[in-house]
Amino acid sequence: MINTAVILAAGLGSRIRERTGEHPKGFLLIEDEPIIEISIQKLLEAGVTKIYLGTGYMKQDYENFALKYPQIECFHNEKFNSSGSMYTLYQLKDVIKTDFLLLESDVIYEKSALKDLLECEDANCILASGLTGSGDEVFIEADEHHQLLHMSKKREDLNDIYAELVGITKLSWKTFQQMCLCVEKFFSTDLTLDYEHGLVETAKTEKISVLKRNNLVWCEVDDEQHWSRAVSIVYPLIKAREQVPTLVKRNVLLNPGPATTTDTVKYAQVVPDICPRETEFGEVMEYISKELTKLAGHPEEYTTILFGGSGTAAVESILSSVVESEKAVLIINNGAYGKRMCQIAEIYGLHYLVYESAPDQPLDIQELEEVIEASSQKVAYLAIVHNETTTGLLNPLEAVGAICKKHRITMIVDAMSSFAAIPIDVNQMNISYLAASANKNLQGMAGVSFVIANKVQLEKTREIKPRNLYLNLYEQYLSFIHTKQMRFTPPVQTLYALKQAIIETKWEGIHNRYERYSKSWETLIEGINRLGLDYLVPKNCHSKIITSIIEPVHPNYNFNKMHDFFYENGFTIYPGKLDKQSTFRVANIGNITSKDMERFIALLESYLNRIKGGDSNS
Ligand SMILES: *Cc1c(COP(=O)(O)O)cnc(C)c1O
Repeated sequence: MINTAVILAAGLGSRIRERTGEHPKGFLLIEDEPIIEISIQKLLEAGVTKIYLGTGYMKQDYENFALKYPQIECFHNEKFNSSGSMYTLYQLKDVIKTDFLLLESDVIYEKSALKDLLECEDANCILASGLTGSGDEVFIEADEHHQLLHMSKKREDLNDIYAELVGITKLSWKTFQQMCLCVEKFFSTDLTLDYEHGLVETAKTEKISVLKRNNLVWCEVDDEQHWSRAVSIVYPLIKAREQVPTLVKRNVLLNPGPATTTDTVKYAQVVPDICPRETEFGEVMEYISKELTKLAGHPEEYTTILFGGSGTAAVESILSSVVESEKAVLIINNGAYGKRMCQIAEIYGLHYLVYESAPDQPLDIQELEEVIEASSQKVAYLAIVHNETTTGLLNPLEAVGAICKKHRITMIVDAMSSFAAIPIDVNQMNISYLAASANKNLQGMAGVSFVIANKVQLEKTREIKPRNLYLNLYEQYLSFIHTKQMRFTPPVQTLYALKQAIIETKWEGIHNRYERYSKSWETLIEGINRLGLDYLVPKNCHSKIITSIIEPVHPNYNFNKMHDFFYENGFTIYPGKLDKQSTFRVANIGNITSKDMERFIALLESYLNRIKGGDSNS
């Protein structure tokens, strides 16, 4: 049982000095608490009873702070100005008599980090994570047994990058003694060695393992960029994760939304009752609106208008609010959601034209442009679905956007099932209005949809006579910027969940999310091919988000029975939505990984074997 910790806190923190003032980095405040104290409380909770605090720059601050905690003993590195963290640690050579945890003073981490390290059986163990891309990372190279080989801030120094250093390490007393001997030869000429290099040198003779935790939430704070990420993403996420009271039964939803959510998103809905007209709630909605805008564009040019309602509400809001009555809108129809836009246009009596295209073939851009040019009435608006959820067909937004730009057409996009997974740049793609919702790739709860609108375009729609009350886009926008409220009762708890889902989306990053989804998709496709099944849309125009799988031809096959078999096993699949082909659908969105997809394929295999074995009740 380890009960000793060492925190290296001698550094100057010069890259964030403007924020720290004349104090060490450990005294940066999150919710009025110094980050060093947040760390110390986690250590004490994990059973640590003795903490050595290695001081240097402004040591008086730490010495005053230590008066609060009898467990803390400060030790000073006199040469902190001209030496590195290894030299600070070296001061403890004859003081420490046990195994210990070694921490950097500016790491913000979740409790499980300490637990994982303490439970690891290896005597020497470096905690590591997947790559965070946060800037100033220390990369780790390890051998096939996950033993430390090398660490560096420069990628090119390493043959292969296995993980990223977190800044929390477990060391045995014996290895620490070895480490001190090992670095003495450097100290005769140079004291600036950092402890990472000390570890790398020591790893040449001692076994030091690397414990990689892909999902660990943590960060360090070296500069302003780190700090804003710490305060807006990392710390709120850690807090939410540590507050989950009990795990909720996990179902894997392979329907195209609502998707599988994290427990932190589920529990974000459990909040004190609040009237949505309170300023505090207005700020929640303002945060959501602004952050959603930032996922696809710049808040100076674009704004996000929120509605209580499912995704269709947002699509209906755009079409009913922005199309001038004497002008024509061209709707691209290559699936059920394109058809739904036609239905909306019909109901509102809009002047609309339809461009029909096959649901399983790429859009013919050239033909589309010819249709626009040949149209007897000028096409003023174009409406398109990005990812046709009917089949997984991905429409080429960039190319269509370029056509719209050339012909001065206002572009409307239903990005319901692509937003927050497939990167979208509304400005670059020339999109004026985009509709999406909370419960698909954002991995939030159902009940909120939204429109990302170009502000200049939106402002022009004020002249259009409203065709409805609840869904009028301009009224909803105007009211929100004046009052920070929705005009009608919003789904309060769903919005809290959406705020949490946005934080988690920012933590993962849209590119990484799409990479995770794509990996699940590759696993799905390999699996169904191995089982002799085929899917509809060619790979080069496939969204890799939802897949229409062609149903097996077998007298014992029955979609509903197959659905029930999966449902009993915690998986939900979805029926097909095509007239001409018998398909069923599998989406790979939400908080799931390729491991879940492997389990799905194994179940599918056993189901197919059962019906082939003559079991018609399957
Ligand atoms: C999910 C979805 C919608 C909205 O459906 P709702 O049931 O109203 O949430 C609209 N368009 C596309 C492409 C979708 O995938």
